[in-house]
Amino acid sequence: MEKRVKSWRVALEPCGDSGLIGRVPNPRLVKWVTEGRNMTRDKQRSRLYRAERQCGLQVEKSKLEPMTIGECQKFVNKVLERKAVKDIKHLGKFHPVLNQGILVEAGKGGGYATYRYGRRIISLGVWARQPFILLHEIAHHLAPSYVNHGPEFASIFLKLTRQVLGKEAEEKLLASYALNGVQVIGKNGKPRKARCPKSQKAWLEETKWLIQSRKNLERGLVEVSNDE
Ligand SMILES: [Zn+2]
Repeated sequence: MEKRVKSWRVALEPCGDSGLIGRVPNPRLVKWVTEGRNMTRDKQRSRLYRAERQCGLQVEKSKLEPMTIGECQKFVNKVLERKAVKDIKHLGKFHPVLNQGILVEAGKGGGYATYRYGRRIISLGVWARQPFILLHEIAHHLAPSYVNHGPEFASIFLKLTRQVLGKEAEEKLLASYALNGVQVIGKNGKPRKARCPKSQKAWLEETKWLIQSRKNLERGLVEVSNDE
């Protein structure tokens, strides 16, 4: 009897909206599925997006001076050439992205980014043409394909941020992870909740307070409208 190659549908990108849907044969993913773990659920995605929005490293649409596609390609190439990036411990020695690179292309529309594992491509809408979003997309290519926005992804994204944007940026992102309960991979190799670095504790408290105040205000407004 003819053997069928198993494949699984995965959402290709993320950053923002639905993105494309593709079929990526992936034996490890199939293994996870047969073990009864629902890997199609991208559990941490909304937390991670929120953390990105709140950390202050993402430039808003109205303030962005987008890089050109050529500049984005150079940026991606440079990141992949860094020794520290090659050493990220989650990566296999012969990670195809590091050997063959990632092609950057213009995406349709003004908005988000999409990535395609099998083809090593990042498609960029206008808003996505900024370093922080590019690092997010590169992290997708470097992380194992089945992890989506899980702890492995979050850790790799954090390391890229440190390598390219510096320690302060890394600490901002880490604090925002902590605020949103994003999980990373701990030193023992297991997932754990991110912890806020000392330098960002004041920011964390202030942001928590602001979020709570906004919630209270919204609640207050709802009560007023109920009274009418
Ligand atoms: Zn993503």
